Parts: sequence; structure tokens; C-alpha cells
Amino acid sequence: MKLPVMRLADDRLCGELAGCDQLALLLDLDGTLIPFAPTTEAAQIDSEAVELLQKLLDAGVHVVVVSGRPKPLIEPFRRALDGVWWVAEHGSWRCGADRCWVGPPPAPELDELAESLRTLALAAGVRLERKSQALCIHWRLVAAEHKEALVSACELACEEWLESHDEFERLDGIEVLEVRRRSFHKGIAVSWVREHLPDARILAIGDDRTDEDMFAALRDNELAIRVGSAHTRARCWLPSHHAVRAFLGWLASARTNSAVPPFLSLESIRAQAPAESGLVVVSNRIPPAAPGRERPVGGLVSALEPVLRHHGGVWIGWNGAEAEGERPLLVHEIDGPVRASFELPPGTRDHYYGGFCNRALWPLFHGFPGRVRYTDDDWNAYVAANAEFARHAIGLVAPGGTVWVHDYHLLLVARELRERGFGGPIGLFLHVPFPHRDLFDTIPWADELIAALSRFDLIGVHTSQWAENLRSCAAARLPSRSMPEIAVLPIGVDPAPFRAVPATGSADVEGLRVALGDRRLILGVDRLDYAKGIPERLLGFERMLERWPEWRGKISFVQISVPSRAEVPEYAELRTRVETLVGRINGRFGEADWVPVRYLYRSYDHTTLAQLYRMADIGLVTPLRDGLNLVAKEFVHAQDPSRPGVLVLSRFAGAAEELCDAVITNPFHTDGVAADLDRALRMDGDERRRRHGLLCRAMAEKTPERWAAAFLDRLVSCRGRGTGLTG
Ligand code: UDP
Repeated sequence: MKLPVMRLADDRLCGELAGCDQLALLLDLDGTLIPFAPTTEAAQIDSEAVELLQKLLDAGVHVVVVSGRPKPLIEPFRRALDGVWWVAEHGSWRCGADRCWVGPPPAPELDELAESLRTLALAAGVRLERKSQALCIHWRLVAAEHKEALVSACELACEEWLESHDEFERLDGIEVLEVRRRSFHKGIAVSWVREHLPDARILAIGDDRTDEDMFAALRDNELAIRVGSAHTRARCWLPSHHAVRAFLGWLASARTNSAVPPFLSLESIRAQAPAESGLVVVSNRIPPAAPGRERPVGGLVSALEPVLRHHGGVWIGWNGAEAEGERPLLVHEIDGPVRASFELPPGTRDHYYGGFCNRALWPLFHGFPGRVRYTDDDWNAYVAANAEFARHAIGLVAPGGTVWVHDYHLLLVARELRERGFGGPIGLFLHVPFPHRDLFDTIPWADELIAALSRFDLIGVHTSQWAENLRSCAAARLPSRSMPEIAVLPIGVDPAPFRAVPATGSADVEGLRVALGDRRLILGVDRLDYAKGIPERLLGFERMLERWPEWRGKISFVQISVPSRAEVPEYAELRTRVETLVGRINGRFGEADWVPVRYLYRSYDHTTLAQLYRMADIGLVTPLRDGLNLVAKEFVHAQDPSRPGVLVLSRFAGAAEELCDAVITNPFHTDGVAADLDRALRMDGDERRRRHGLLCRAMAEKTPERWAAAFLDRLVSCRGRGTGLTG
């Protein structure tokens, strides 16, 4: 039987555990067996859960409920469910076959902390929960507008108290912060079960960080399942407590009924109990899950990784491979947000990705009609691939959940989802420019594309120019139909990693520093793409050396070009062109002790990039057309405010709309780029600081998280209103 979600070894293990003589099931309560309620008191074990636990007991499973709740809140359930063993307060209190609770006396130190938090709690509706070895501070009932301030105040009080109480630690849960004695955690439940049931194998299920201690104590032939989407040490994942119940139902039947297959299909479990979190992000590719694999470079990855970490949710995309047959969805949970990927049919790479995406839409949307090639085969592959993305998204999303689609690869996904009956909000963020009507009209399937775009509830773009183009194409192509709302929401960059630049850099950076000596540095960082204007920038640099010979020997231009789409012929040609230009400039102007252009055909991580940005006197960003351009924003964040470098930015980068205080340049005008470079190099400290201050102000408070939150809020509210605005 095919097991789409679990890796094969885990499927086998699941089947083995279901059939083993002695099985101990360690089950968290809130969020795992029963749904979250506004207060712990309100969360009851319903009759379905009671019946399920009874079925498991009847099937010979040793059921151990491992909860973080205090003992008094467990006691009523214990009485109702004879035969189940109970662990309260994350392992502090245990009640087994003899029906007696065993645990330590209460820790008096925690009274002092509770006292210091009491005023805060009274003022704002925070709830304090005193356990014998822990104090929990719950935010679930606090109004959203007060939450941030209140959480910070409570965190501060806890941190101060913890400084003088080493034997306690802080744990951040879902809407709760817990301060607890280090020596009591859910790992104790595992040791306790082993002591009493030495021959049993353990299956542990939980939804919270505190369950990770339980997972950590398991052996290789045992299994942990984490509920919800989070970074976990568990090998498997289920989307919700509904899915847990479906899984437990299968477990009980598999042990008692020989007609039930000894393996399970989580796809069928998901079909009965779809994800509750309800956010599915869909993009062409997802970052690879295997640690050590190089992460793909690009604005989308940089923006979405922190967003998914923060919001939870599942990110799905193509894994880049092609296959015949069923092509199931594979979930990866090794590092970072939960990701799921799938294969696409043979021919997809050439016709969908290399074809309609990158030889039709990409050049057209970036204003290169001469590079566009339309073929029916490419279009058909694009339609088929979009349908596959929709098929997988619908398998993961809850009926009223949200689907957030990214970029030009997936313009038809809303249509496909609606045709499959999905009724929740669907948003599209277009990271590339939207072209002018004259260009869009060249697409043979322009009407179909616009009609498909109208099936989204919200379309986000980076600039008012792209929004305007989209509106005018829609008005011309589809005057009778209302278009979705269009939001101009440029992505921000998280400044923290770019501001925290260490004094000494990596070996590469230090090597470059030595090679540069006291020469000034002009830096370019891009994927190697014809839209980025790399040859144009080299020509501008060359012209500057011609016109202002005094700069020769005094500056170095470092161009980092990240390999990109090497399989598309235009990109291979571009590489040759850039390398030829670099060779020509170095040949013309280089000296024995001076290399004018250093060309690095590779990628760097953000820590190294931040160091390079900080070292640079000039950030040279000259796309001929770009949806936004994150490098420009990162460069500004990385500058030392007391002696900042200068950003020279193409007016055709979407980012120029926000970063209008950069030195704005026109990459189509070589003399102009040369003059702008010269001006930037001569700019005095006052002007550099003034411009840098204005650029920082333009980007203030714009982080990827806020960008995503703004998009998702707007998406949900415009779906709520039923329709969007007309174009
Ligand atoms: N980037 C990187 N390593 C590199 C070069 C670039 O991580 O060696 C990142 C860069 O920091 C930025 C992204 O790749 O976040 C490029 O985004 P941008 O919007 O500038 O261009 P895109 O590649 O999306 O067209």
C-alpha cells in the first residue's frame, strides 16, 4: 500500500507497532486528543474521545495520557476512564495501575514569581496557572491589541526571576509561557512507563514543545508523531486532533480486526480529517528539506521562510523531479516550516518550467518580448502543472482554510481549486512585474489567463505600476467580470541579520578585505539573469574608468552572480557574455597589482552577504526590470549608519518606488550609469548619512512577517466581503 505522507521506514514501523504484543501509547491531551478551548477548564474529554480510549484499552494498548495540566484538572477524567494511566504537570505527578498519584511537594519559590505577575494578570486578563513545579502564564484570552506589550512585560518579569533561579527554566508553548523546574519534564513519563512495562514499545503523540522531551526519550524502534506543523524531532506528522482520532481508530481496529490492513494510509486519514490550521502556501519550488543541501537563492525563499516559521502552515511545491504514475505528496519536517513536495509528469521540466514559465512569462513580464517563445505544448504543460499543484493543495487544506499562491508559475491555480469545489480564500502574490497591456496582449491565451486571475480573491504586487498594468489588462480583456482586489504590498526584509555584522568576517570576506587594501568597493549581487542588467552595469563601470581615469587602481568592482536556470539557453549565453565583458575590462585596465572586476559565479549565505554589503562603498543594483529587488533593501540595512555606503539603484527595480532616496540610475544609458557611479563615489559623508536615514525610514517596520500578516488579513477580509473591487 502506498503511504504518501510518512516515509517508508516509518510506515513499516507504524504497522509493526500496531501489531506488537505490548504497546504503550503516550498521548498528550490538549491539542492532541481534544481541541484547544479558551481555558483549560473548558476543555473536556468528549464522549467520542472516551470511547476511543476505551477501544484502545480493549485492544490491549497501555494508554498513558501525558498532560501538562495540574492534577486537580486531570482527576475527573481519571475517575471516568478506569484503566488509563495518567501523568500530570509534564511528568511531576504520575498515576498508574494502583490508581494512586505520586509526585513531589510544591515548589514554594514560584509563589514569589506569581506575586510579581499578579498585577499584570489582573490588569489585562492574563491567566496564571499554578502547578506544583511550574507557573503557567496563559495569553489565550488577551485582546490582540494588548498582546504584544503584555507578553513582553511578562517575559521580562520571568527572565529577571530566572536569573536568580537556575534550577528553573522557561518554556514557550502555544499562547502560554511556562516557568518550570528543569528536572520535571515529559521525558520522565517515558522512564516511568519503561520501569513498569519493561517489555512495551512506545508510540508517543503530542502537539506541543513540551512533548519533544517525550519524543527525545524514545528508542529507534519506537515512534513519535507531532500534531500540527512545527519544527520537531518526531519522525511523523498529523494535521489536527481529528486526524489523531482517525489514526487511533485505525490503531485499535488494526489490533483487533484481522481484516484491517496492518499498514495505514495517512492520505485516507487526511481525507477524513483535513488540516485545521488551514494555511497552505503554494509555490513552484520549496527549499530542500535535507540538511546540508544548498538552499536555493531567491527573494521568495528569503521572504517566505520566516513567515511560515512564524505562522505555521504547510508550504507545498514541486520537488523538481518528473515521474509517471500516482505521484504522491511527500511531507518533509527535518528543518524549518513543514514542507510537502511532489513530482510532476515527464516533460514538465522542459515545457512547463523551461518553457511557458521561463521562455514566455518571465521574459514577457520583465519586458523582453524579443526573448519570448509561445508554443502550444508549453501552454498545455503549464495548464496541466497548475492542475497538479491545485490537486495537492486541496488534499492538504481544510474546507474553509486559506491558500496562498506565489508567483507567475501558478496563475491558474485559483481556477483549478474552484473547479474542484474549494470555497476558502485564495490569494496570489506576484513577485515579478506585471507587464504593460501591449505586451500582455501578445499572449495567445491572454483571455484565459485574465479569467483565471479573476478567480483569486486578492492579488498582491510590489508596486503601484504593476497594479496599474494588471488593472488595465483586465479592463481591456475582461470588461464584464469583476477583478479581485489588487494590493500593493512590497515585501520587507528582516533587518536583524543584516545589521548584526560581526567585526571579523568569514575566510572569503577577510581574503577579499586583504586583496582590496584601501581601495573602495563597488558591489553587485544578483542571480545571473538577463533582467538584472549585469552586462549593462559592467559597461557603466567600464565607461567610468574611461571618463574618470583618476578612479583607476582606487576601486574594485566585485560582482557576485548566483547560478540560475542554467538549463535555459538564454542563461547560458548570458553567462558567456558577462564573462567576456569581465575579461575585456580586466584586460583593458588591470595592472599587476590591481584587478578592476572580481567576478564570483557562486552564492553566499546571508551572514557573508551582510559582511560584504557592510564593506562596500557602493551597492550597484541595475536591473532592466525587477518585481522588487531584495538585495537593494538588504544593502541599506547592512550599512553602518555613521558612515554608510551609497545605493545606486535602477529606476526599473520595483524597490525604487520605496527607495527613491537612493542614487537612481538608468541602466539603458551607459554614460548615465558611469556618471551616477562617479557621483556616488564622490558623495560626502553628510549626504550619504542623510540619504541612508531616509532609506531606512522608508523601510522602517516593514518585515516579511508584517508583509505576510498584512496580505493574509486582507485576503481573509476580502473573501469575507464576497467580492473584490472592479479593475
Ligand atoms: N542571495 C543570497 N546569496 C547570494 C546572492 C543572493 O542569499 O549569494 C539572496 C539575497 O540576499 C536576496 C535574494 O537572494 O534575498 C535575491 O532576491 P532579489 O529580490 O534581489 O532577486 P530575485 O533573485 O528574487 O530575482
